Amino acid sequence: MITLDEYIQKVERHRGEELSAEDWELISTAFEIGQRYHAGQKRANGDDYFEGHCVPVSLNVASLNMDGSMIAAALVHDTLEDTELTPQELQKALGKDIAEMVDGVSKLSKVKFQGNERHIESLRKFFVAIAKDARVVTLKLCDRWHNLETLLYLPEAKRQRIARESILIHAQLASRLGIGKLSTILKDLAFPFAYPEEYEKTREVLEGAMNLASKVIEKMYRDMLPLATENLGYSPVVDKRIKGVYSSYKKLVRKDWDISQLSDLVALRVIVKSPEECYRMLGIIHGKWQPVPGRLKDYIAIPKPNGYRSLHTTVMSGSGLSVEIQVRTREMHDFDEYGIASHHSYKARQAGEVRESFAWISQLGSLKDQKLTPDEYINILRSDFFEDRIFALTPLGDVIDLPVGATALDFAYAVHSDIGDSAQGARINGKFCALSTPVPSEAVVEVVVSSRNKPSEKWLEWAHTAGARTKIKKRLSTAR
Ligand code: MN
Repeated sequence: MITLDEYIQKVERHRGEELSAEDWELISTAFEIGQRYHAGQKRANGDDYFEGHCVPVSLNVASLNMDGSMIAAALVHDTLEDTELTPQELQKALGKDIAEMVDGVSKLSKVKFQGNERHIESLRKFFVAIAKDARVVTLKLCDRWHNLETLLYLPEAKRQRIARESILIHAQLASRLGIGKLSTILKDLAFPFAYPEEYEKTREVLEGAMNLASKVIEKMYRDMLPLATENLGYSPVVDKRIKGVYSSYKKLVRKDWDISQLSDLVALRVIVKSPEECYRMLGIIHGKWQPVPGRLKDYIAIPKPNGYRSLHTTVMSGSGLSVEIQVRTREMHDFDEYGIASHHSYKARQAGEVRESFAWISQLGSLKDQKLTPDEYINILRSDFFEDRIFALTPLGDVIDLPVGATALDFAYAVHSDIGDSAQGARINGKFCALSTPVPSEAVVEVVVSSRNKPSEKWLEWAHTAGARTKIKKRLSTAR
């Protein structure tokens, strides 16, 4: 069994920055609670639940440089769902902030997405709306990260569903939150299970190209360091970045599988001390390597909608291969890697420097150009989510996305035509209701069916959605 001391050493190895005494106290308490309440529980592969799942999830959180309260929350993220611990006890031991995060994660665990790609965007919004806090989404994504790492132990039928859902929902959310690193991790872990044939093909195509690209980048890296050091007066951090397998696949599909079109298989990142130095460094780079025309992008002057800032250029390496170079400050880098849930931006958000941190929300609701306070953002975010759509749940936790005004009958048809055709009534939040009853958002709806039931003309008045009415009409005409 892992001891607290061993765990502390692991956290220190995973996290780039040091934690405060206050953080360590929260983490130690959470460790003790998690270990005590999960005692005796096992995972599908036979591992101890706490050590084999909660600990790795919290180390994922630590490796994204999230703060101590999030690491602590990760250690106890499954206690409300899977143990005897009550929300009150959790709050007493670790405070309101952590208790609320864990409560949010537990709520998200109840939601299961079905492969309805048509409404995938509203499902993503639903996910965020339930979480109401970017940190909760981040915790859930780190939980998913570890589940993907241990996917092999699940039954085959489940694997593909979870893997595809991870690419469609979780990786997209990570990218919306600006946690680029996490988005790449989730997609690359899920890819082989989600689309096995495409994965194999991509791997074959990439193999040769990656070998060459790695050699080229290695040489440029060795030339870059002394050049930068000489010109800047200090050694900047130079990072090698390799494009993820899944995003290479997406690009290969767009480029008809022509590998020579992938100029960003490998990239170099130079991290300097100020925005001014970014431009200076760009000049130094262009003095040494010939830039490819039209490839310079100034995301410092014009940041991406999600808040991303950096200078991008592509240069000729001298070996026939062009290489992308990104120049940025530490702050810009952390924002790209760890996003708004990271330590820096969360502190900044609490301090009121919030507009930039919330840029990702504006992407969700296309509020890009409006000048709004954070509260206004959140209000608009919430009302926009629920303005014209309602999200209801089946008893199994599947999300059914319907327009406002939709009735229990619409819900039944949205679940399945057969369920619609044989619907007799519905239990909305446990209460029996007629088929004509409008469904409130976030309600749990159980359709009551009877094999003797069939649609009548009256149903056309009860149905609100075009989809349900079409199905009813079809059924009425064949019944005659
Ligand atoms: Mn979990």
